[in-house]
Amino acid sequence: MAYQHPVIVIGAGLAGLACAVRLHRAGVPVTVLEASDGVGGRMRTDVVDGFRLDRGFQVLNTGYPEVPRVLDVAALRLRAFNSGMLVFRDGGGKERVMLPWKHPRHALTGLTADLGTPVDKAVLAAMTARDMTFPAGMLRGGGDRTILDELRLWGMSPVMVERLIRPFLAGVLLERELETSSRVFHLIWRSFARGTIGVPALGMGEVPAQLAGRLPAGAVRLECPVREVSGTGVVLDGGGELPAAAVVVAADPSSAGALLPDLPTPAMRAVTTFYHAASRSPLGEATQVIDADGVLADTLVMTDAAPEYSAGGEALIATSVLGTAGDGDEPGVRDRLEEIYGAQVRGWRHLATYAITEALPAMPPPMPLRRRVRLGEGLYVCGDHRDTGSIQGALVSGRRAADAVMGDR
Ligand SMILES: Cc1cc2nc3c(=O)[nH]c(=O)nc-3n(C[C@H](O)[C@H](O)[C@H](O)COP(=O)(O)OP(=O)(O)OC[C@H]3O[C@@H](n4cnc5c(N)ncnc54)[C@H](O)[C@@H]3O)c2cc1C
Repeated sequence: MAYQHPVIVIGAGLAGLACAVRLHRAGVPVTVLEASDGVGGRMRTDVVDGFRLDRGFQVLNTGYPEVPRVLDVAALRLRAFNSGMLVFRDGGGKERVMLPWKHPRHALTGLTADLGTPVDKAVLAAMTARDMTFPAGMLRGGGDRTILDELRLWGMSPVMVERLIRPFLAGVLLERELETSSRVFHLIWRSFARGTIGVPALGMGEVPAQLAGRLPAGAVRLECPVREVSGTGVVLDGGGELPAAAVVVAADPSSAGALLPDLPTPAMRAVTTFYHAASRSPLGEATQVIDADGVLADTLVMTDAAPEYSAGGEALIATSVLGTAGDGDEPGVRDRLEEIYGAQVRGWRHLATYAITEALPAMPPPMPLRRRVRLGEGLYVCGDHRDTGSIQGALVSGRRAADAVMGDR
């Protein structure tokens, strides 16, 4: 059927862009209305003094099933981090845990690390093998409980939970209580075990930019906030009305809730990333350091993976803490960094602080892994809050919304 008006997608984050690209490829006219001054939503990169600063540290995981389906990963020139971590703990220094099938040279370090009992290590190996190899549908279909309860069921002792699992997941799920859905945990664990994590050479903002580049010129309208929606069109903040063949709300969870008052929206997790410049890398390897004592979530030398993140050859360090912090918290963060990296930290330059109050939806059990995207005649919703709170979830929800729009015609 010919379209008299375009489908209007509200929001140019990953979900909205994935939806718009799918519609466009199917020959459906589409307009994306974005409130801010750029595409990407929660995934944008600033260039500050020649450094590429992602708006909050995050990584692309090639193990997410939707990523190779939707993105041209080669064109992003992904700069990989090692598959593993250094676990820092007061009095314990840095202990290395690497995925042995990715880093055979370090295969034995995890076995000797003081991060759990021999039984814990066997449990971890068995759980990882299951999550990697069993069909994803089986992980999705399993019973749902908190991660903490799940790890207890597997027989993992508090030693490994405290020294490895809790600090690692803090940086991924942005919570330390291990109260997230165990189904989500197993799917994420699977992606980490199967994939590679990294950043595009020119920053995470390249991911949405790649999608936006597949849309015709003029299809994305920036600084165009929408105030009201219906199945037949939208009202702009400025007052104008735009008719639409259908409307897809691809806004972040709280903005989606404002546009669609009947839509239940999740609580959001916050994170703050501090960026520092140093004359040289304090680590010399592209491996994330996690903090078992919980002061920091994680710290990484971005330029050890992606030298392009620094134009002048200096090292760029990204350090994240849970919650909303500010520049005033930088001295405390720096103290902890000194314990991890040594006295050279005193000479670092603080570049920026990014406090992201609504970074990731909370995903407590029971967690429906798919929420409906069709709200009624001509009205649809997508975003990471409709699937899992992740890049994977945002991309899948965009695809599902586009298919629902086309299915209704
Ligand atoms: C610091 C941080 C770290 C993260 N780390 C990871 C990670 O390592 N791995 C991972 O998988 N995920 C991670 N995530 C999550 C991931 O970035 C998000 O799940 C994903 O980007 C969400 O995309 P989205 O399109 O659903 O929403 P958003 O990116 O929020 O996009 C929504 C868009 O809608 C626009 N909008 C809102 N209201 C209106 C309106 N009224 N009119 C017009 N436009 C509107 C907004 O401006 C925004 O551009 C992280 C997120 C953050 C912030």
